[in-house]
Amino acid sequence: MENKCPNCGRKLSIFYIKQECDQCGCNLLYYDMENRMEEDAKKAKEEYDRLYAIVNFILGPLIRFQQRRNEKKSAKKQETTEEVSSEK
Ligand SMILES: [Zn+2]
Repeated sequence: MENKCPNCGRKLSIFYIKQECDQCGCNLLYYDMENRMEEDAKKAKEEYDRLYAIVNFILGPLIRFQQRRNEKKSAKKQETTEEVSSEK
């Protein structure tokens, strides 16, 4: 990775430990921090979307199957409770 000031382009040693660039005084630590965080968030979202797509691909049918089974079960339960209440 090239180590230079992002503001003025001055080359900095890898061992340059000051927070500010000696030439322009810009804060190297926080320079462009927001953009970088946004970039990271975007990347994380992309990663999440990809992961979600994979998980959905694998688990989607399983979840739908489970849901259908639960719906059937609850439908049956409702039927029986209705029967019981109408018998009374
Ligand atoms: Zn600079």
